[in-house]
Amino acid sequence: MVACEGCGMWVHAGADGFSEADVRDLSEGRHRHCGGVYLCPTCRSTLMARLLSFMIHENRSGIFAAPVTDEVAPGYSEVVGRPMDLFTMSRRLAHGVYSGTGGPQRFRVDAEQIAINALAYNSRGDKTWKEARRFLLALSRATDAVFPFTHNGAFAAKIAAALAQP
Ligand SMILES: [Zn+2]
Repeated sequence: MVACEGCGMWVHAGADGFSEADVRDLSEGRHRHCGGVYLCPTCRSTLMARLLSFMIHENRSGIFAAPVTDEVAPGYSEVVGRPMDLFTMSRRLAHGVYSGTGGPQRFRVDAEQIAINALAYNSRGDKTWKEARRFLLALSRATDAVFPFTHNGAFAAKIAAALAQP
């Protein structure tokens, strides 16, 4: 049994997909998805819904709300191989795509993908590019705070490093 750090509920770790090795890693603070902090499925999904609300609020120019089409953005599908948007994420959250202990990590990869696509499609330094950078930094900070054991996807880490350069 493990106690949820969010609500205090005791959970049979096996019922939440944890193997014996997972439980040992968790007790030693080095579980690959959650370090030493266990969150139950309800708390995970509540926190992801909150993060999604945060992202919707942070989408000030509205550009990340819905799938981008080639009609609106010529050549988009040639530049962006993995489209993502807030509506698609909301549907995925409702359909359980982010369930399981690895869910928050998949959620983070999708969230960052939204910004990364905009950084890739738009010209460095233009208005939309700057908005995408602001959005990426805000969501990365918020996700670090809510799910400290998730990490930037490999591409996001590369982008973050590039953005850090003067
Ligand atoms: Zn909980």
